[in-house]
Amino acid sequence: SRIEEKLYRNRYLVDSGRPHIKVRRHQKPSANLLALTRVCPAQCYELTDEGQVEITADGCMECGTCRILCEASGEIEWNYPRGGFGVLFKFG
Ligand code: SF4
Repeated sequence: SRIEEKLYRNRYLVDSGRPHIKVRRHQKPSANLLALTRVCPAQCYELTDEGQVEITADGCMECGTCRILCEASGEIEWNYPRGGFGVLFKFG
């Protein structure tokens, strides 16, 4: 909903130009990579018309799901955001 989106923005600080998660370019996404477009709770991953899975890391909740599925295989690069950026769990 709109309200949820607003709350989201309020507690998320974007580190512009320094995404903390990157997807390696690929010919065809693996099953795990493709799964991220469905399982990421923040809906950060999407499949482009060119068949690439891409990430917009803004709004990432650092749940670690994508890290578990795709980091070891090298399909994504995963780091915590720099201090002060990313999701702010204490708010209000
Ligand atoms: Fe989505 Fe969780 Fe990965 Fe962040 S850590 S991009 S919320 S699956």
